[in-house]
Amino acid sequence: MASAKKKQHMVCRDCHRVVEGTSCSICGTSNLTADWTGYLVIIDPEHSEVARRMNITLPGRYALKVR
Ligand SMILES: [Zn+2]
Repeated sequence: MASAKKKQHMVCRDCHRVVEGTSCSICGTSNLTADWTGYLVIIDPEHSEVARRMNITLPGRYALKVR
């Protein structure tokens, strides 16, 4: 078994998108947080009720809750 040091992804505080790197590829903001819960994968935002509720228009990975 490999040692389980899981890398915590950062999440954009503005659009809740899971960000790889130092800034959000959608907002362009660096307003990120590692304090989030609920991994959410949006594949088809137009037909996803969750995406609509969270104002997500682009497919991708998001955090359900950002603190
Ligand atoms: Zn963003």
